[in-house]
Amino acid sequence: MHMFDFDNSYARDLPGFWLPQRPAQTPAPKVLKLNTVLLAQLGMTSQDIDFAQVFSGNHLPDGAEPLAQAYAGHQFGGFSAQLGDGRALLLGEVIDDNGQRRDIALKGSGRTPFSRGGDGKAAIGPVLREYLVAEAMHALGVPTTRALAAVTTGAPVLRETELPGAVFTRVAASHLRVGTFQFFAARGEADKLRLLADYAIQRHYPYLQGADKYMEFFQAVAARQAHLIAQWMGLGFIHGVMNTDNMTISGETIDYGPCAFMDAYAPGTVFSSIDRQGRYAYANQPLILGWNLAKLAEALLPLLDPNPERAVDRANDALDQISHLYQEEYLTVMRKKLGLPKEDSGDATLIDELLELMAQTTADWTTTFRALAEGRAPVFAHLPAGQAWLARWKTRRGADAGDLRLENPLYIPRNHLVEEALAAATVGDMVPFEALLDRVTAPFTEAPDSIAYTLPAPTGFGPYRTFCGT
Ligand code: AMP
Ligand code: MG
Repeated sequence: MHMFDFDNSYARDLPGFWLPQRPAQTPAPKVLKLNTVLLAQLGMTSQDIDFAQVFSGNHLPDGAEPLAQAYAGHQFGGFSAQLGDGRALLLGEVIDDNGQRRDIALKGSGRTPFSRGGDGKAAIGPVLREYLVAEAMHALGVPTTRALAAVTTGAPVLRETELPGAVFTRVAASHLRVGTFQFFAARGEADKLRLLADYAIQRHYPYLQGADKYMEFFQAVAARQAHLIAQWMGLGFIHGVMNTDNMTISGETIDYGPCAFMDAYAPGTVFSSIDRQGRYAYANQPLILGWNLAKLAEALLPLLDPNPERAVDRANDALDQISHLYQEEYLTVMRKKLGLPKEDSGDATLIDELLELMAQTTADWTTTFRALAEGRAPVFAHLPAGQAWLARWKTRRGADAGDLRLENPLYIPRNHLVEEALAAATVGDMVPFEALLDRVTAPFTEAPDSIAYTLPAPTGFGPYRTFCGT
C-alpha cells in the first residue's frame, strides 16, 4: 500500500544507532482523531487508506522501515546509560511540502529491545493528551512535535486500572535527543559520536560547515533551546519531565507526558506526581535548560578539541553564555506580550514587578496577560502598587505596539477541561475533546459561546497532579 514517499536517512546513514522492530498487532483498531491537514502536508495523496490499520501499526505502508532508536539520558539528574525507544517506533521519514524532512513515529506500538520492564503500550488518556497539547503548542507558535493520529487498539492496557489501549502517531523534525549523543559518548564511541553530529548538522544546521562546526553546532542547539524554553515561560507551560532524553537537537518540544499549563501564577508550580523535589518546577526550567546543555557539551567534548583540557575550557566558555542567551530570549518574549517595542534597560524590572503583583494576587497567568492585551483591568488593579505598575506600563508602552491579543492567547488547554475531555473520551465520548481541540488550535481568536474555555479551574478542582504513564 503506497501512502508516503518515505526516504529513511536514519536507517540508511546510521547503522548501529537503532534496532529493527515490527509494531505489535492490535485486535480492533479505530481512529479517534486524524490530522488531515498535516497528512496532506506530509504528501499523503492516496485514497482508500485504512487509517486505523496504518496508525495502529497493523499495516505497514510501503517504504516504512520500523525501528527503535537507542538513546541514554539523565532522568531527574541520574544517568541511565541505556533508555531508547521502549514504546515507540520510527516508521520512516518524508520530505514535507515545505521541503523539510519529518519523522513519522508510532508511540504505544508494543515492546522493543529497549522496553526494559515496560509493556510498550499507551492508554487512551495520555495519547489524547499528547495530541491536544502538541497541537495547542503548534497553534501558539511554539516549536513542537506534531500529532498526526490517535487510534484505539481494541485491547486494554493495565495501569492502576484497565484502560483502553491506544497508539499515537507523532511527527517530528527528528527524534535526535541530547540523550542520543550521551548514549555514544558514555560508551566512548568517538567515531559514532562524530557520525551522529555530522548527521545532526546535515539535518538541522546544514549551514555549519566550517572548521569549528561542532562548537557552532552546540551553540546552535543552545540558541534554539533557549528560544524554546523562553516561549514556554511566556505561556506558563510546565513540561514536567525535562530529562536529557526529552530535549531535542532540533529545538522542538517533545514528550508531552506530565506537562500542564499553570493557572494561578506561582513560580514553584509543579504538576508531575513524580517530581517530588520540584526539579522541573515552572521557574526552574531555565536552570534545567543550562543543566541539560551542560550534559550535551560534555557528550560533545571529544569533538570540541583533540586536547581534553582545552575541550573542557571551550565547553565551559560556551556554557557561560547560556544564561545571557536565555535572558535575551525571555525578554524578547515578554516584550512582545506586553507590547514594549524598543528595548529599555528597565524592562526586566518592569516584568519582575508584574510577576510579583501576580504572585501576590494569585493571578491567573493566561487571563492576566489577555486582560492587559484587551485593555481590561487585571486582578491586581485595585492595589496601589498595581495602579502604579499599570501607569508605568502605559507610559513605557509604544503607541504602535500592535494588537497584543495576537501575543496573548485566550484559549489554552486548561487542566480541568483537559481532564474532562480525556475522561469523556475514555468512555467513548469524543465531543468534549473535539470542542476543546477546536478552541486551543485557534487560541488567539475569540469564538462564540466559549467563555467556559477561558475560565480558570473551579475552586473544587485541584491540587492538580499529572502522571507520566503514556
Ligand atoms: P518518558 O518518560 O516518556 O520520556 O520515557 C522514558 C523512558 O521510558 C523511555 O526510554 C521510554 O521508551 C520508556 N518507557 C516509558 N513508558 C514505557 C512503557 N510503557 N513501555 C516501555 N518503555 C517505556
Ligand atoms: Mg521520553
